[in-house]
Amino acid sequence: SPTVIDARWFREHPLPQPENNTDKNARGRVLVVGGSITVPGGIRLTAEGALRAGAGKVRIATVEGAALPLGVLIPEAAVVALPMDEAGEVQGTDPSLEAQLGRCDTLIVGPAMSGADQACRLVEGLLSVSDFKGGVVIDAAALLRLGEHAHKLRTRDVPAVLTPHIGEMAGMLGLSAEEIEDDRARAALSAARRFGSVVVLKGASTWIAHPDGRLLFYGGGGVGLATGGSGDVLAGVVGGILARGCDPLCAAAWSVWLHGEAGRRCAETVGPLGFLARELLPFLPGLMASGA
Ligand code: AMP
Ligand code: MG
Repeated sequence: SPTVIDARWFREHPLPQPENNTDKNARGRVLVVGGSITVPGGIRLTAEGALRAGAGKVRIATVEGAALPLGVLIPEAAVVALPMDEAGEVQGTDPSLEAQLGRCDTLIVGPAMSGADQACRLVEGLLSVSDFKGGVVIDAAALLRLGEHAHKLRTRDVPAVLTPHIGEMAGMLGLSAEEIEDDRARAALSAARRFGSVVVLKGASTWIAHPDGRLLFYGGGGVGLATGGSGDVLAGVVGGILARGCDPLCAAAWSVWLHGEAGRRCAETVGPLGFLARELLPFLPGLMASGA
């Protein structure tokens, strides 16, 4: 039976807090890889999610057509331009991106991409960087053909965090959406074992499964969270909390709760429907400090 994440759970699993005399490197360097020419700004939500969750530094690697405007839009982040294919997607990794990953603590890959092949190539290349031992978050199109990387994920020292909605989960497991809807908890647990990763199966209620069989549940947030870019914010928060040194299950649980509670705050202050994913972001630091 699942553990519902609530005040007690958070008291027992506090976030790592930085010492006052530490610099930004101590709170983690996050590399966010993704974006596409169709959704050129989506990855900004992820980068900002990571910074709002307390990450020290964020670098965005995205399609060359979007990198410069993004950098201006989010002056707190560094940007790297990657070659783009005819579909407007990131083509794949290159040696310089892989070298950059070696100098980072956490990788987030996939947000705001839609090409499954391109995202699959990115995951392939990035997971092969042998001097990268940090946390990994895989989201959106990067999940669709993840079956090909199951072995690589299972053999990581630190489990990755996968953040599928139902459709992406179907792609991951090669099942239909109906089969997953049938028993979400079981699907999350079986995916966690298959990929040796923490699986966050998102939706109106969210199941978080660890490969060792632990299962957490969150059912809050409100329907206003079902809006474009909402998941991009969540992926960023997970990466930011991982970068601070939190273990993957705890990072996933905190992120789902923070994202949901930020949704509640937006519903109260902006209105229950029609708030924007980016409006979740300013609530995150206060919620983190207040705990559960
Ligand atoms: P994505 O589909 O990737 O944009 O992610 C959507 C986010 O919104 C996930 O974190 C979901 O858990 C959340 N969400 C979607 N629908 C609902 C809903 N009806 N109630 C609460 N949260 C939701
Ligand atoms: Mg998404």
